[in-house]
Amino acid sequence: MIDNHNREINYLRISITDRCNLRCVYCMPKEGVSFLGHEDILSYEEILRIVGAAVKTGIIKVRVTGGEPLVRRGITDFLTSLTKVGGLRDISLTTNGIFLEDHAEEIFNAGIERINVSLDSLSPGRYRDITRGGDINRVLRGIRKAHDTGFSPIKINVVAIKGFNDDEIIDFAKLSIDKPYQIRFIEFMPVGESALENSLGYLSNDEVIKNINSFSPLKPVDKDHGRADGPASLYTLNGAKGEIGFISAMSHEFCSSCNRLRLTADGHLRACLLSDEPTTDLKTPLRNGCTDSELETLIRDLINRKPGSYETGCQQIHRRKCATNMSSIGG
Ligand code: SAM
Ligand code: SF4
Repeated sequence: MIDNHNREINYLRISITDRCNLRCVYCMPKEGVSFLGHEDILSYEEILRIVGAAVKTGIIKVRVTGGEPLVRRGITDFLTSLTKVGGLRDISLTTNGIFLEDHAEEIFNAGIERINVSLDSLSPGRYRDITRGGDINRVLRGIRKAHDTGFSPIKINVVAIKGFNDDEIIDFAKLSIDKPYQIRFIEFMPVGESALENSLGYLSNDEVIKNINSFSPLKPVDKDHGRADGPASLYTLNGAKGEIGFISAMSHEFCSSCNRLRLTADGHLRACLLSDEPTTDLKTPLRNGCTDSELETLIRDLINRKPGSYETGCQQIHRRKCATNMSSIGG
């Protein structure tokens, strides 16, 4: 469906849980996180009904995220059911990779071939610090296993943070040379309480690009040949098997090409990552017995209210910060 700002809305990100086995400093508070109860979370059946209705509005692409999706029981069966929803052309998963080695084969066999793994440092100590206790070796083994299993593409999400990992930018970029990985630098976004509490240093992707260019010139991947990748601008290094992507939500205008909706684990459909409004509660009508066509109408209504570039979206981030943690929205 085309929204009121002439954008084709065809992408739905689904957070299947607000729980996580890590506590990244920019995403979750150290302790005192109040998780949703079992009853408050959408069941897999409810999510599948929403996806079915969303497909009727024109959604063709779905990403499963969290919290950490691999901590929710029954995910493999859910993914199998998701691949059977007619009309979806692209289903992918974002994970912190801690449980990936154990689950890669079953996820792949469920029909998911595209995966994003978050990794903000290549140093075991720093990784432990930023995730508050994570073991990088498990993530590295998970990525290798995903590669050996046949996942393609494998995208590695790196939140670039000044004073934390800015001296590792070139090492991350080099990972794209020998392996067909897409290294994606994501600008840190001040979303949610924990991001605001932690005085993490903002690093623009322009600085990241400058840094990589000082090592080896980045060549843009030709967008006219179908290689544009959502909000990421894609580049490659000379002779590299992989690519380098930049997601510059803070420094560059982002809204005019935004094609997505987000479903939170407690059943709220959000029109904008960076604004808590507008949002539609789908769980209550679902549990009150609404029909699929009523569900579809609710989704269409939200798409019609999706903010444009100069309304309530990213442009206001510096003034009106979104209060919901990333772990609830799903990134
Ligand atoms: N747990 C999974 C993971 O870490 O990949 C999936 C959920 S996580 C919320 C999705 C993505 O959002 C991750 O790549 C994470 O680095 C990113 N993210 C979380 N908080 C962020 C923030 N404040 N700014 C930028 N990216 C953020
Ligand atoms: Fe968990 Fe992902 Fe948030 Fe880190 S970024 S705390 S792994 S949900």
